[in-house]
Amino acid sequence: MIETKVCIIGAGPGGATAALQLAQLGIESVVVDKAVFPRDKVCGDGLSGKVMTALEAIDKEMAQRLRNYAPKQDSWGVTFVSPGRVNMEVAYKPNYNRQTDEPAGFVCKRIHFDNFLVDELKRRPEIRLFEGTAIDKYELQEDGYLVSSADGSFQVKALLLIVANGAHSSFTKDVANIRMEPAYYAAGVRAYYKNVKGTHADSFIELHFLKPLLPGYLWIFPLPNGEANVGMDMISEAVRSRKVNLKKLLTDTLENDPVFKERFSNAEIVSNIEGYGLPLGSKKRTLSGNRYMLVGDAAYLVDPFTGEGIGNALYAGRIAAQQAAAALAANDFSAAKLAAYDEGVYRVLGPELQLSHRLQKLVKYPRLFNFLMKIGTRNKQLKELISCMFYEVDLRKKLARPSFYIRLLLNK
Ligand SMILES: Cc1cc2nc3c(=O)[nH]c(=O)nc-3n(C[C@H](O)[C@H](O)[C@H](O)COP(=O)(O)OP(=O)(O)OC[C@H]3O[C@@H](n4cnc5c(N)ncnc54)[C@H](O)[C@@H]3O)c2cc1C
Repeated sequence: MIETKVCIIGAGPGGATAALQLAQLGIESVVVDKAVFPRDKVCGDGLSGKVMTALEAIDKEMAQRLRNYAPKQDSWGVTFVSPGRVNMEVAYKPNYNRQTDEPAGFVCKRIHFDNFLVDELKRRPEIRLFEGTAIDKYELQEDGYLVSSADGSFQVKALLLIVANGAHSSFTKDVANIRMEPAYYAAGVRAYYKNVKGTHADSFIELHFLKPLLPGYLWIFPLPNGEANVGMDMISEAVRSRKVNLKKLLTDTLENDPVFKERFSNAEIVSNIEGYGLPLGSKKRTLSGNRYMLVGDAAYLVDPFTGEGIGNALYAGRIAAQQAAAALAANDFSAAKLAAYDEGVYRVLGPELQLSHRLQKLVKYPRLFNFLMKIGTRNKQLKELISCMFYEVDLRKKLARPSFYIRLLLNK
């Protein structure tokens, strides 16, 4: 049996970040993942500015290594397409210069990005990583958690657990008692294509809120080597009530919609179409308890409007590590002590998640959405606001400033 102070279940973005932040604080951890890396994860592969911000806060050299990491595509903006096909292009930074500015976002296949993080784990002597090992049993004991594989051949005893094993976490369901609710959950599918025509010269990501797809949307995220991540997601409640087959809806749209038909006329699909769940942060939950904290998708932290979960997982991973350090220093792993983790997560991410929940509801009203997009194409402030939804880390500060609304009204 392995003994450790902190055991992290899952080496995806959330778990890896928690381990890296702990290592930076000089705290050892054991990280266990059922997969052997590099491994894929169904995703849009869009990485927002939050990713670089979080990694930079942990270790500037690591952030620099990510900047130099080859298999990613820098992205300089986003194109929104409204139900009435109004296009609105929003650069992440007004008047950006590709030579001198740093891109705020990028697109990187998860098989590469997650492996980058796992390589970072392997650099740190404070971290012991076990791959190819699924944790199936959790036993709360007097002096810690005993976690083990199904046959009991692998066991870890830890003072504290950080649970970051993704959207299908049985710990989240069975121990933390958080159940999947279709109104607060989305389903998504994605495939990789080659030679999609008409992508932006500066690799803007594209979000198409077309009427037949609402309340879902279709995305095209450009990747290196002429590839693109193409996918669609929709709130699970609508998928169920309308009996939507998302894979079929995606291929039907690409084949029959006149705009996509032309853009995909020379395109070649180079992967299977695969689906996965998005546990949305549109509702506040209890994210910690006696000797545990939930991180990332296991904590239901995906942005309900943008579908962004990686940046939020990284933020939560850092906050969990900081709270773990405080709990270890106080030798107190009680639910009351760890409740500070929930406060930290919702203080940082809560305002954005709430705003996104409202925007997600707006998508249900295509006329209003069209109207706002039309205004948006002419209104600098609104454009900026929508761009911030995706990439600006300190959006909530901006929204709290009255001057922001005055400038919005005056279109300054
Ligand atoms: C279709 C789709 C598109 C998306 N697009 C985007 C996007 O463009 N941008 C964005 O930011 N987010 C996107 N997301 C959300 C994003 O994929 C997740 O929010 C993100 O992966 C969360 O990271 P995580 O570390 O919490 O979980 P995961 O990335 O799921 O990692 C969990 C890890 O736990 C391991 N694990 C699972 N069970 C066990 C076990 N029992 N024992 C040990 N290990 C275990 C897994 O192998 C995995 O490595 C998308 C999601 C979907 C489904």
